[in-house]
Amino acid sequence: MQELTRQFIDNRWVESAGRRRLPVTDPYRQETIAEVTGGDATDVDAAVAAARHALPSWQALGGERRGAFLYAFADALEERRDALMRLSSRNNGKALAEAGIDLDDAIAAYRYYAGQAAELEARQGRMVEHGLDGIQAQCFEDPVGVVGLITPWNFPLVTSAWKIAPALAAGCTVVFKPSEVTPLPEQAVAEIAEAVGLPAGVLNLVHGDGEGIGAPLTAHPGVDKLSFTGSNAVGEKVMHAAAKGVRKVSLELGGKSPILVLEDAEVEQAADWVMAGIFFNSGQICSATSRLIVHDAIAEPLYAALGKRIDAIRLGDPLADDTDMGPMSSARQREAVERYLGLAREEGLVAVRDGRDRQLPDRGEFVAPVLYRDVPTESRLWQEEIFGPVLCGRSVSSDEAAIELANASPFGLAATVVAGDIQRARRAGRQVRAGSIWINSEQIVLPEVSWGGFGISGIGRELGPLGLAEYLEVKHLIGPDA
Ligand code: NAD
Repeated sequence: MQELTRQFIDNRWVESAGRRRLPVTDPYRQETIAEVTGGDATDVDAAVAAARHALPSWQALGGERRGAFLYAFADALEERRDALMRLSSRNNGKALAEAGIDLDDAIAAYRYYAGQAAELEARQGRMVEHGLDGIQAQCFEDPVGVVGLITPWNFPLVTSAWKIAPALAAGCTVVFKPSEVTPLPEQAVAEIAEAVGLPAGVLNLVHGDGEGIGAPLTAHPGVDKLSFTGSNAVGEKVMHAAAKGVRKVSLELGGKSPILVLEDAEVEQAADWVMAGIFFNSGQICSATSRLIVHDAIAEPLYAALGKRIDAIRLGDPLADDTDMGPMSSARQREAVERYLGLAREEGLVAVRDGRDRQLPDRGEFVAPVLYRDVPTESRLWQEEIFGPVLCGRSVSSDEAAIELANASPFGLAATVVAGDIQRARRAGRQVRAGSIWINSEQIVLPEVSWGGFGISGIGRELGPLGLAEYLEVKHLIGPDA
């Protein structure tokens, strides 16, 4: 069994100061495949000190040369793609093909921010146009400083890439805490930092849980900014911790995203997008379109088409080629989803498929895909993020009613709109309050396009130029132009 007892601090693998051993599991085989030694505040202190020490020279290196490291990062990930796919699949339970999509998204993010780093350098010192004679105003963008990055388990290597790549491009130095549930694939980030010769202290990886590493990292006065992806409950704690010392914070939190299927939608095509929106990664996706809002006129054929597709989903070994859906990532997550299914039974929700008559694989933390229809808006299943393969549907009789229902949520991460007339879909999409709206499309993610939420889905944006801006401070030099 693999033992991860060391932290990556200042380009050295040092024994963790913490002593608690945290099991790392394979949720399909239901066995412990590794142990990670959870670090503590001493490890955080050392990592922050290393990052602080490395900051001036990393900034001084310039965007072009920092970008070269990020290209090397992307190449190294690509070289290890197959091995990392398997590792991610094993540690997380996600189907192998899905793990491949994750790797490609991570690689694309490193490449994109490599280019952004060079562009940043090119625009340093640009003149700002204004109307005052004899005065020049010059603009620079400096790194925020030492950043603490905390990620969840559902997309290891992707959620971390979306933070590490822009942070390094900006000239920040990093203390990264991956989820204790998926330390195995994330360990590669430190191994790659070492392999590509990143200067000491620029990227530090500390393993541990929320209590051991997360809380001390968010409370550390030497951290200038926190960027967190995870649950709303922990996100609020991170924001609270960042208030002390007025440190900056970015939050990528949960969602309860809608998919609107309008009256003129082509049913079979709509069914494909509905399926992909909720059952990818066993529903453990922050942008899962878990609320189906369908026009009355096509509700019956759509539910019938979805029922057939749900029956065809092959649950099984995530490493097998013929598996569509793997287990939940952990026993804990399976139990959390099952509590919602128990609640649905108590509430008497109407199921198109409730998963109970389905034969589950004889091992693994599986939850069968479930679809409820005509779910009351007061139901907790309609309102709360379940983070599992559970789709809740409701019917409406107009586009306006669909939009109103879509917006009746405090979350606002994503949405999908499906219609026969794409202009009609675009018009509706424009009125939905969310960061990413897919129009007659599956959930396409582009590194050039920002990711993040309205409302309680978060603060700030990742990806795109705004994702870089999260790690920059703007500075102006203003005075006589002589
Ligand atoms: P989580 O909030 O339980 O944990 C996230 C991270 O925070 C982990 O690394 C954990 O160890 C750490 N943590 C726990 N307690 C902490 C504390 N007190 N201080 C600092 N750090 C602490 O979330 P999770 O269960 O790992 O992930 C699922 C959640 O993540 C879902 O709500 C999902 O919607 C969200 N998510 C959002 C996005 C997005 O882009 N908006 C992407 C992926 C996941």
